Amino acid sequence: MNFPFHDGSCGHSCCLRVENLSVRIGADAILKDVNLHVHCGEMVALIGPNGAGKSTFLKAVLGQQEYSGVIAFSTPGQRSKKPRIGYVPQSPAFDPSDPVSVADLFACCMSKRPAFLGLGKAMEETVLECLERVHGEDLIHKRVGTLSGGELQRVLLALALEPLPNILILDEPLSGVDVEGMAVLMDMLDEIRKTYDLSILMTTHDFSMLPRYADQVVLIDHALLIQGTPEAVLNSPEFHRVFHMKGGSL
Ligand code: ADP
Ligand code: MG
Repeated sequence: MNFPFHDGSCGHSCCLRVENLSVRIGADAILKDVNLHVHCGEMVALIGPNGAGKSTFLKAVLGQQEYSGVIAFSTPGQRSKKPRIGYVPQSPAFDPSDPVSVADLFACCMSKRPAFLGLGKAMEETVLECLERVHGEDLIHKRVGTLSGGELQRVLLALALEPLPNILILDEPLSGVDVEGMAVLMDMLDEIRKTYDLSILMTTHDFSMLPRYADQVVLIDHALLIQGTPEAVLNSPEFHRVFHMKGGSL
């Protein structure tokens, strides 16, 4: 099922519109004619089996992957201007013995000052303000390698929110997070989306969160198989075919 674009606009102040997106890597067709519309303020979950092309889709939207087709954004009052995209990558592994702290990580990303000189007062204030957005001020001096899955996601989220983006993209933010942490993280994303009026596009394998949090679920397996409300997609024959017959996890 493809999503129709009647007049090329979404009627909201900020959206992402993808039309006929195809990606080839070498001889392989990774994505074929994917159409998707993320409206302003929506949370859209992209699901599909491993190797379906979910991360490739996100990379194309981020401008990190060559593609054919159309990827267009419209931001409030600035139809032609590129939006700010916040990106939370799939959790990188940090060595627990590595001395890099959360403060150091922010300093590397946000400041030209060498991390070994310390944060500086003004920068520390800024980092604390960033961490406050994810209720993570207490994490500032922790070593990145010792953070739990949920804490690491919150730190990466805080980095992605500075400067505040128009759209937030997260690749598997729930993997490596325990069940309790998942609900905390999803509540936080929901709060952030409403507070800052962001659109959110995320991939996930955790379908139990979708009915509560997602406005729209998109199932892909190289092509778009079905999209709609969580209830419609999770109860669809396409979903059962992909995840039951191929042994996917529910
Ligand atoms: P998903 O995120 O849904 O698990 P990916 O988008 O990571 O899937 O990958 C989709 C397919 O594209 C996989 O078969 C993967 O091996 C292939 N692929 C992704 N990136 C590359 C690359 N840089 N070179 C070759 N193949 C790739
Ligand atoms: Mg992936």
